[in-house]
Amino acid sequence: MAETLEHGLFIDGRWASPNGASRFTTQNPANGETLGSFVSARPEDATRAVDAAARAFPAWRDTPAPKRGEMLLKVAAVMRQRKESIGRVVTKEMGKVIAEGRGDVQEAIDFVEYMAGEGRRLAGETVPSELYRKFCLTVRQPKGVVACITPWNFPTAIPNWKIAAALVCGNTVVFKPASNTALCAVEVVKAYEEAGVPAGVLNLVTGSGGVVGTALINDPRVRAISFTGGVETGREVYQQGAKGLKMVHLELGGKNPQIVMDDADLPLALEGVLFGAFGTSGQRCTATSRLILHERVYDEFLGKLLARLKTFRVGDPLDEKTDMGPVASADQEKKVLEYIAIGQKEGGKLLTGGEKLRGGVYDQGHFISPTVVETRHGSRISKEEIFGPVLSVLKVKDFEEAVKVANDVDYGLSSSIYTRDVNRAFRAVQELEAGITYVNAPTIGAEVQLPFGGVKNTGNGGREAGSAAIEEFTEVKTVFVDFSSHLQKAQIDPR
Ligand code: NAD
Repeated sequence: MAETLEHGLFIDGRWASPNGASRFTTQNPANGETLGSFVSARPEDATRAVDAAARAFPAWRDTPAPKRGEMLLKVAAVMRQRKESIGRVVTKEMGKVIAEGRGDVQEAIDFVEYMAGEGRRLAGETVPSELYRKFCLTVRQPKGVVACITPWNFPTAIPNWKIAAALVCGNTVVFKPASNTALCAVEVVKAYEEAGVPAGVLNLVTGSGGVVGTALINDPRVRAISFTGGVETGREVYQQGAKGLKMVHLELGGKNPQIVMDDADLPLALEGVLFGAFGTSGQRCTATSRLILHERVYDEFLGKLLARLKTFRVGDPLDEKTDMGPVASADQEKKVLEYIAIGQKEGGKLLTGGEKLRGGVYDQGHFISPTVVETRHGSRISKEEIFGPVLSVLKVKDFEEAVKVANDVDYGLSSSIYTRDVNRAFRAVQELEAGITYVNAPTIGAEVQLPFGGVKNTGNGGREAGSAAIEEFTEVKTVFVDFSSHLQKAQIDPR
């Protein structure tokens, strides 16, 4: 292994590889190339990271919030300057096409800049007192040391959503990224390092979630955990965090529907479903995994979709002309192919795709053809998260049935309806059980200035992004200032 490929942990402002720790590597899912070697951190390494974060906390807490915001502006500037090179790392390490690799970094830049501005807001509220000469107000205070645990599908955007929000609020952070995008995590942390983040304010520990994640969650000094990942992992993280009565923020899976009504702009809806279902090879938490079609446009729309997929280019994600790259790993490939087999066993009709692509460049990587399965509502593939380029198609007779089918899953992250009927559009906004509803747009395409999150098994009620992110990372302190020079008793003094 060449020296340059080896990366250490980032603890207390220094990159170092602890003696005796083992290592793991990451691979390009398009061609198997090894991209880097990383430390499999042990519980004691996680503890050292928390030590550093706890030591750095008082000074960072006392740094004026606008100054913390200024540091974030520098981070954004570094990432902007390196957007192309980091975007290429994203594409190489997780396989999304290069335009989306750049988009991942752009989302990180947008959010970090947005959060920098929060440093000049972080608003509390001021309300009247029931007593004389008394002020009642609230101020926001940081929680302390925060653990940020992230998945691989948005390997620069999601970490920045968490880290930038936590830091601007005055917390210090220990960041635990998904192992198969550890190089992206190193790129993220280097941007903060170059921007001058003080030692210990941001720390990186790579390694197994079960080992490092568990050690972080169980450390009594970690006051909040911000987690994005799968439902089962999220449940485990929530249970462990509950033991320490910690704030646990969860962003979990999805099974997002795109409804196409009989009055929809069909070409627009077609572009929407192609992007929604096959962008990032279907590995977005907001990916369109169910296409709910009104029976009157069913045959026509499906015909157009299948025709369009015949010219869909699957291949090298660094090639600008490629529509879809590989899935992110061998594990992903296995899981997606298993679900396709389940779909067929339970009576689904495979309309296109459904196979591992072979021959030429495909033999080096994890390429699956874009897959469309006609199925019935209630089948496993219509209800469980697959997280791959697999679209289940369901036929409905009217709007009411479309909403019923859309809502009848355990998840509730994103949703979309294509219709020209304004009443139906607003009814969908009101009736779809999801944290996000798009009208005449695909299920993907979040913007950072708005809250992001879902209902049901998608989370536990919190929201990331937008100013809602501030809720996740602050405690509200209530302050009473009595300037009457008398003891005044609320609720007791005569009125
Ligand atoms: P995952 O649950 O396998 O892993 C997520 C993170 O948790 C990783 O860093 C992993 O190392 C860590 N982890 C694993 N076991 C742990 C444990 N016991 N304790 C603490 N940490 C542990 O998820 P993934 O495969 O990386 O990502 C895919 C999933 O993420 C999908 O279900 C997807 O829907 C979801 N996701 C959700 C959102 C959202 O905002 N709702 C966004 C992106 C991805």
